[in-house]
Amino acid sequence: MRINENLVSIEGRTHCVHCNFALGEAGEPALAGALLRRGDVTKAGPQIRSGVPSFVRTPVEFRQYLCPGCFTALLTEVVATEQEATRETVMAHSATPVADD
Ligand SMILES: [Zn+2]
Repeated sequence: MRINENLVSIEGRTHCVHCNFALGEAGEPALAGALLRRGDVTKAGPQIRSGVPSFVRTPVEFRQYLCPGCFTALLTEVVATEQEATRETVMAHSATPVADD
């Protein structure tokens, strides 16, 4: 069953559609085996403004989940730093942190 443009579920296990890497076993979060890149909002690229509007009173950060097999960006978000579970990161709950730069 196709989950989105990057993920497919086969017998409950989540795979990358581009390289077939097994990202999550049955019963695990879909992106449990993904690599996690996180840091300053500027990592999102020049199309994303790094300035945080004054009405946002909590620190925010950039998060990107990558396939360990082919490094496709599976999920990219700018979210509150203190927030571990957002609408999308529930899929990526236990992704493996990756060193950046
Ligand atoms: Zn892949």
